[in-house]
Amino acid sequence: MRDIVILGSTGSIGVQALELVAANPELFRVVGLSAGSQKLPLLFEQARTFRVPVVGTTASRDAWGSLADGVAVIDGPLASTEIAAIPCDIVLNGITGSIGLGPTLAALGAGNKVALANKESLVAGGPLVMAFGADRIIPVDSEHSALYQALLAGKRSEVKKFIITASGGAFRDRTDLTGVTVDEALMHPTWSMGPMVTINSATLMNKGLEIIEAHYLFDMPYAQIDAVIHPQSVIHSMVEYIDGSTIAQLSPPNMKGPIGYALGYPDRVKRATTPIDWTSSHQWNFEAIDTKKFGSIDLAREAGQMGSIATATLNAANEVAVQSFIDKRLEFSEIVKVVAQSLSRVDKGDLRDFADVSAVEQNARMITAEYIEELAQ
Ligand code: MG
Repeated sequence: MRDIVILGSTGSIGVQALELVAANPELFRVVGLSAGSQKLPLLFEQARTFRVPVVGTTASRDAWGSLADGVAVIDGPLASTEIAAIPCDIVLNGITGSIGLGPTLAALGAGNKVALANKESLVAGGPLVMAFGADRIIPVDSEHSALYQALLAGKRSEVKKFIITASGGAFRDRTDLTGVTVDEALMHPTWSMGPMVTINSATLMNKGLEIIEAHYLFDMPYAQIDAVIHPQSVIHSMVEYIDGSTIAQLSPPNMKGPIGYALGYPDRVKRATTPIDWTSSHQWNFEAIDTKKFGSIDLAREAGQMGSIATATLNAANEVAVQSFIDKRLEFSEIVKVVAQSLSRVDKGDLRDFADVSAVEQNARMITAEYIEELAQ
C-alpha cells in the first residue's frame, strides 16, 4: 500500500489520479489533497469518497465552512505547501503554473518523492528542485515519462539525443494566426487538459517549456533536445542512442498512463491506460516544427541557454500573457512577442534560492503587464 498526496486534486491531473486510485484501492491510499478555490464542492466530495484525513485549499473559511463537514482543513495561500510536506510515499503535484514550485520544494524538503506534473516547478526553479537529487522526481508530463522509460533501454553515456513529440496544438494547419479567439485556442485536437496548458499547446510554448523541463530533469544539453510534430500524440517521446537506435514509448493520448507509471514506479499499474489496438490500422505522422510560425520554441531555447533567471522569466511572462489573452486583453499572435520583450530585459545567470525566484517572477509579471498595457493603447 502506497500513501499518496495529490496537489491540485480538482484539476485534470488530480481527477484522473483519483480515478486510478479508485480502480486500485489495494495499491494506493490518499493521505492528503489540496486544490484552489474554484471547485470546492468537488474537493470535499473527493475527501469524503477517499476518506482523506486532511485537505488544503486556498479558499478562506467563509467559502468552505459548510462544505467541510468533518473533514480537517488547512487553508490559506500556503495550504498546498503544507499538504505537500505530509509524510508519504509520493506527492503528485498536479498544480498548474509556477505557484506549484513552493509545494514541490516543500515535498522534497520533507523527504517525500514527487510525481511531477507541474512542469513550471522545473522551468521556474530547475536548479533548486534538482538539488534534491534526480532520483526524487518521477515525471508525469507524458513526454518526460516517455523519456524516463526510454532511458531505461541504455546507458546514460550512450544517449545521443532526445526527440520530444508535439501534437502541434489547435493551429498546426492554420497559416494565419491573426484574430484567433479564445474558444479556438481552447480546442485541442488530441489531449483534454486545463486551459493554461491547452493555450500553451496552441502557441507551442508548452513544447518550449518541456524542452527546458527535459534539460533540468535529465541534465541534458539543449543542443541534444529536439522536438517534432506528431499529430496523433501516441508516440510520447523518443531517445536516440549512439548506435543509431531510437527507443520510443507509445500509448493512447491519456494522462492515466504517465500518472500510473509515476505513482507506481518502479512497478507498473495494471490497466492504468488502454493499450493500442493493433487489430485496426494506424497512421502515425511526423513533421518538422515551423519555428518561424511558432516563435516560442526558439525563444524557450534562448531562455534555456541564458539560465534559470531567464527560464523563470519566460514562464512568468507567459503566464501573464496567456491570462491576458483569456481575458481578451491581448491578441493570440502577441503572446510570444510579449514574452520575448520581457525576456530581453533580463540577464544571464542562475537563481540561488526560492526568494530569488519570487523576485524574478514578480519583476517579469510587472514588466509583462506594462507591455500589455502599452499594446492596448
Ligand atoms: Mg506534455
